[in-house]
Amino acid sequence: MLKKTFVSKNKLEEIIAEYPTPFHLYDENGIRATAESLNRAFAWNRGFKEYFAVKATPNPEILKILREERCGVDCASLTELMLSRACGFSGEEIMFSSNNTPAEEFVYAKSLGAIINLDDISHIEFLENCAGIPKKICCRFNPGGSFKIHNYIMDKPGDAKYGMTGSQLREAFIKLREKGAEEFGLHAFLASNTLGGEYYAKLASVLFETALWLKNETGIYISFINLSGGVGIPYKPEDSPNNIAEIGESVRRVFEEILVPEGLGDVAIFTELGRFMLGPNGCLVSTVIHEKKIHKNYIGLDACAVNLMRPAMYGAYHHITVAGKEDSPPDHIYDVTGSLCENNDKFAVDRALPKIDIGDRLIIHDTGAHGFSMGYNYNGKLRSAEVLLQKDGSAKLIRRAETPEDYFRTLDITGVLEKMPNPNAPASKTMVFDVEEQVR
Ligand SMILES: *Cc1c(COP(=O)(O)O)cnc(C)c1O
Repeated sequence: MLKKTFVSKNKLEEIIAEYPTPFHLYDENGIRATAESLNRAFAWNRGFKEYFAVKATPNPEILKILREERCGVDCASLTELMLSRACGFSGEEIMFSSNNTPAEEFVYAKSLGAIINLDDISHIEFLENCAGIPKKICCRFNPGGSFKIHNYIMDKPGDAKYGMTGSQLREAFIKLREKGAEEFGLHAFLASNTLGGEYYAKLASVLFETALWLKNETGIYISFINLSGGVGIPYKPEDSPNNIAEIGESVRRVFEEILVPEGLGDVAIFTELGRFMLGPNGCLVSTVIHEKKIHKNYIGLDACAVNLMRPAMYGAYHHITVAGKEDSPPDHIYDVTGSLCENNDKFAVDRALPKIDIGDRLIIHDTGAHGFSMGYNYNGKLRSAEVLLQKDGSAKLIRRAETPEDYFRTLDITGVLEKMPNPNAPASKTMVFDVEEQVR
């Protein structure tokens, strides 16, 4: 299948004239359509709510769009909570699904009235001591072993650091009830970036059975079940996309099979999708600045792994389109690289692409989730801008690019900074002299 971009070459050049590459570009129409399709798929469940995983794309303009589409937020850190609060989310619109949680984060989450999802049984006392036990609370389940669908191992929860065992779960809910909790939820995240459409229903059946078991064992009624993240996206052209309507229906079937006959038809379903919501609705836009021919042919971009870590970190595939050359035959083989002094700083290895020229714009697909947000500053490289392609077709800068001042901000070198040459100003003798003075 041909993977298309959501922006044309002409539109792209218009945007680049205003905001230089590299930058991440997001598609407002796509984000809204994805949120609508998810809400429609689960409309059968009265209490359904998507809590967008903020770590995927922590930008206020994106969060505001999702809030308009009736989404809440899933946070796992102090700053994610702060950002969510600043975007207008409050109380039960916030799920706090963290692990190895510092006390100050529990305190802040509790003060916001967020739903706290406990990762471990020991966190009950920890939370009680630092913030108190809220009325509404959730526990995260780890069934251990391997998570299989038709004998295919999707992931190995037994090796994952998250969640509690089944027997701990039972003990945790009894303890929480003793300590005054009144409303209970169950959460699990057992496989990441799943395709094939079967993950959510399988996970739901595990959680629904566990909720029934807990009810029989403890008399505790689980009022919401959080299926968390893990619905994947087609990064590769040959991948088939998940059909969210079918996924919603498959969860409905197990809901009606397992929960409804037991009088649990009021249980609310929550999701915490990140990748599915934003991944395909963002791309990294970059410009070719060098071509190098040695033992292999290299294309050098003005972007690098600090702007998109997934290929370097996981060997992840990200599709690449050469803007304006969509119809040219992919008859050249390139490694597409960034400029880090790290040989894994490659967006693509041995990729068949059309002939590339210096100045071409390369669009790296599916960077809308876990793209910008995983960025870092290695080699002193600066984080890029983020731009939103709005409903009306206009582009809006939703995060400016970092400057050297941002990079040096945590150092106490104020006096030195003032004397640093401005890289944008024409070189002058005085500046060079100043720097040499500093070195001496
Ligand atoms: C990362 C994460 C998510 C989102 O995962 P996706 O793969 O982006 O859907 C949801 N919940 C929790 C607790 C997470 O850590």
